[in-house]
Amino acid sequence: MAYDTETIVATKAVLAAAQLCETVRSQISPEVIEKKDKSPVTIADLGAQAVICRAIDEAFPNDPVVGEEDTTDLRQPEMSDRLSQIVSVVKAVESDASPDNVLEWIDRGNGQVSPRYWTLDPIDGTKGFLRKDQYAIALALIEDGEVKLGVLACPALTFDSSQPGLLFVAARGQGATMVPFSSGKLTGDPQVLKVVSASQTDDFRLVESMESGHGDHSRQESAAKAVGITQDSLRMDSQAKYAAVAAGKAALYLRLPSPKTPDYREKIWDHAAGAIVVEEAGGRVTDMFGKPLDFANAARMMDNQGVVVSNSDIHDEVIQTLNN
Ligand code: AMP
Ligand code: MG
Repeated sequence: MAYDTETIVATKAVLAAAQLCETVRSQISPEVIEKKDKSPVTIADLGAQAVICRAIDEAFPNDPVVGEEDTTDLRQPEMSDRLSQIVSVVKAVESDASPDNVLEWIDRGNGQVSPRYWTLDPIDGTKGFLRKDQYAIALALIEDGEVKLGVLACPALTFDSSQPGLLFVAARGQGATMVPFSSGKLTGDPQVLKVVSASQTDDFRLVESMESGHGDHSRQESAAKAVGITQDSLRMDSQAKYAAVAAGKAALYLRLPSPKTPDYREKIWDHAAGAIVVEEAGGRVTDMFGKPLDFANAARMMDNQGVVVSNSDIHDEVIQTLNN
């Protein structure tokens, strides 16, 4: 099948990065949270980018990676302790990790948007990571502006009472699956995802960001109401929101520009992996005007504003409501 090798490489790398993140996160103490100390997220973020970029570099040496992180800060002399901490967590996955190797692997993620490239958010939802809430490791392959493969690991996510850890994988034209994982390994069989439009159920609800500054909660909630959603919204950090729509646990994900940052332009790595998972499960993804998200031009989607993700059925009605 098309993208088989890419799927295998990406899945393995994302699971290894997820394990690195979970190891770092398990060591976050209440004092760290209280002090709002961001060092655990920095260590896990940069460590995860190193692990994933290395894997892509080995398998696809000509593919650029457009990653969220770079080493500008880490190369400062006063950051040598932080670099040692990152090397030590990466070593658990890559035994030949050294300060020079790790810096080089992270910087492998400074590629440009190209006819074929990968985009990576090594920790999407950093606030959720620190709060011990939702976060995701998101990796996607884009060709000619179209997302072809998405691998999204949500280490803290569960939709029932089972142990958290869900991996979402979607390749264009081949559907989307959800598989449980733990400690960097798959622990169950893949389940094929199909969005549902169950308007009579508790799952007919809105999912939105936890952060009020990353959207417009009041406008999002009134738009949801206008299309018949009466349940309270689900609030989650990261692309776990896309996973919720793909798995039929929410009918709509709205991300409207925050009144505080009306000119904000979304970044490709915050959406590419999640978007293909929803589309391959049968849902729809556009900006707030109904335009496709632009993965062809730059790290920021300059011609798009807001994001609307739905079970497909209610999509046109939502767009109409937003543009009246
Ligand atoms: P979420 O977890 O859905 O709240 O989204 C986290 C992402 O929001 C981060 O990865 C940032 O790239 C992105 N972000 C930062 N500032 C804004 C903003 N003003 N509006 C929308 N998204 C933002
Ligand atoms: Mg992000």
